[in-house]
Parts: sequence; structure tokens; C-alpha cells
Amino acid sequence: RPWNFSAGPSALPLEVLQQAAAEMTDWHGCGMSVMEMSHRGKQFMQIAQEAQADLRELLAVPDDYSVMFMQGGATAENAILPLNLMGRGGALKADYVLSGIWSNKSHKEAQRYGDAAVAASSGAAAVIDGVTQDPWTWFPEPEQWRIRADAAYLHLCGNETIGGVEFATWPDMATLGVPNVPLVVDASSHFLSRPIDFSKAALVYAGAQKNAGPAGVTMVLARRDLIGHALPACPSAFDYANVDGANSMFNTPPTYAMYIAGLVFKWIKRQGGVAALEKANIAKSQALYAYLDGSDFYLARVHPKVRSRMNAPFFLRDESLNGEFLAQAESAGLMQLKGHKSVGGMRASIYNALPMEGVQALISFMQEFERRHG
Ligand code: PLP
Repeated sequence: RPWNFSAGPSALPLEVLQQAAAEMTDWHGCGMSVMEMSHRGKQFMQIAQEAQADLRELLAVPDDYSVMFMQGGATAENAILPLNLMGRGGALKADYVLSGIWSNKSHKEAQRYGDAAVAASSGAAAVIDGVTQDPWTWFPEPEQWRIRADAAYLHLCGNETIGGVEFATWPDMATLGVPNVPLVVDASSHFLSRPIDFSKAALVYAGAQKNAGPAGVTMVLARRDLIGHALPACPSAFDYANVDGANSMFNTPPTYAMYIAGLVFKWIKRQGGVAALEKANIAKSQALYAYLDGSDFYLARVHPKVRSRMNAPFFLRDESLNGEFLAQAESAGLMQLKGHKSVGGMRASIYNALPMEGVQALISFMQEFERRHG
């Protein structure tokens, strides 16, 4: 199989695909595909319960957090979130940290429901350690964020998939002087790539299609005191109280996507859990960035302190070679390296399912391309 560097939907572990293929028409001898099962039947109930329990175990989700499987992707969650949380306390206010395209989208969506303010933004160039950083390639220091004490929550995007910037640690709201403002994180593109510190995050949501399975299921891990405050306009299928109360079976859940996500969770356990994957992700991303930094031919623009372990945007200094680079990469079995149109250049997404061998194949190809054109 070629190495797939897609930002999402992205590569899944081959073992998972093979298992799903083997079970496609007959799941565990029951004579049905998982696709054909009632979500209330005992077979699917078992699949769903195991998926939920495995996810809890992998991320050490505390008991007072709900683990919900929803639909609509992170984009829908950008609306579902304010619809559920903004009314808490009655102020209809929420604060947003803008660090790239995805957090901007979240903020824009929230403005439909109340007073969504900007707590901080990296949307201007900044001089850091004497070097000028382009917009969206750095993070404002949390100590400088303007967080309102009566905000219903503070939202940030843990990993900006397009810009390739990632929060290495999440801020402690008590240290920032707002202990009663819950931190909410869109973790879509680094979910399950590293542990989650639930002492800092009150709600984490993630679409599955990067590290956790196919598109179609969104995971929402929410501290229970945040549940039960939905605005009257919130659709009943998106009210966390309904979803949590029915253990993600308020209406038909995305059964097949949940099943595959469950297989991915078991695969992660076999790899040694999230800590083992984090170690691998550190090694993979360090290898790639070390190569980029050591080269005069390629360029990584994101500030080293906030570079994403999952999505590495990079540029050829001679951009006229972009087309040739992509065509030759594809012939060499290195797929989907084109950068997002808003950033340009290239982007290598190196999620959990892409092993070090794939990163090394990319680096070898880049070295060879540089040797021929440099
Ligand atoms: N947030 C982040 C960080 C993403 O990477 C994406 C999609 O790539 C989204 C939100 C939107 O997800 P979806 O297309 O599933 O709604």
C-alpha cells in the first residue's frame, strides 16, 4: 500500500481494515454485517459498550465525564457546543482563542448563538526570539489571553490541522485566574495521539476521521456538570442531556463508524496505549522537522515551540518545483502531500496509523529530490 499523508479522512491501520473486511458479511458468526444490526440489539450493544469502555481506558477519562458518540463532525459540534453551554450561568457569553482556520470557524459559528469574543489571536505577524513569525504560525502566551470571568467557556483548537500548530500543553484555567470558566478543546486532529489532561479540559470533542476511525462519528468527552444547560433552540438529538441520558442511543447512532472506531481503539491498546503512540509520534515528527530544519531546499514556517506532531506544513523554497515534487512523490507511493490551498506548499499528516517507516520513506524521497534539483 502507498504511504498516505492525507490530513483527513486519513490512513487507518491495515489490521483494522483487514479485520473489518473479514467480518463484513458475518460478524462473529451471527450471520449479519454490523451495518445490518439493530442499534438496540445485543450484538451492537456489546460493540458500543466495548468501544466506550476502551476509549475511557485509553484516555483515562474520569468517572465524572460522559463519553458520547455523536454525528455531524466537529463542524456540527461547533454549533452544538454553544447551544449546550452558552446558556450556563445565563450570560450567553463565550471566549475563543484564534490560532488558525479551524478555531476561526468555531468562533464564527458560536457568534450565531451569543456573545462569542476573541480572547487571543495569532492572526498578525509577531516577533518571537528575534524572528518574525507569519500570522497563524505562533501562539499568544496564555497569560495574555483576555478571558471574561462570566464566560460560559473558553474554546481553543488543540491542533490546527491546516496551519500545523499544536498546543503542547493546555492552560490551567485556575492559574489564569478564571477557575470557573471551563476549558473546551477541539481535539479533532490530535485525538488519541497523546494523553489528555482532564484536570485542565472540561470538554473535549473530536471527529473520528484522523486518528480514531472513519468519518461519521464525533466523540464528545464532557464533564457532567456541563450537561443539562441546553438553550431551548437546541435540537433534541444534539442536546447533551439527551445523548448522555440515552448512552449515545437517543436516536440511531453512526453504528458502522462506531464499530470501526472500536476496532481502532483495540489496535491502539495492542500498540501499548496512547503513551506508546505518543512516543512514536514524537520520534516521527522530530525526524521530519529535523530534516526540514537542516535543509536549505525546504522550509518549515511554524515556530518550533508550537509545531504540530500530526500535521507538518512545509515549502519548497523554489515553488516552481511544486508540481514536479507532488507528481514524483505520488509515483514513489507518497500520497496526498499537497498543502491546504489557504497555506500552499506541502503538508505531511503523520497520524497514528502512519509508522516511522512511512516518515523515513518521505525523508528519503525529499533528500533525493533535493539532490537532483538543489
Ligand atoms: N476541527 C479540526 C481541527 C479539523 O481538522 C476539522 C476537519 O478536518 C474540523 C474541525 C471539521 O471536521 P468535520 O469536517 O468532520 O466537521
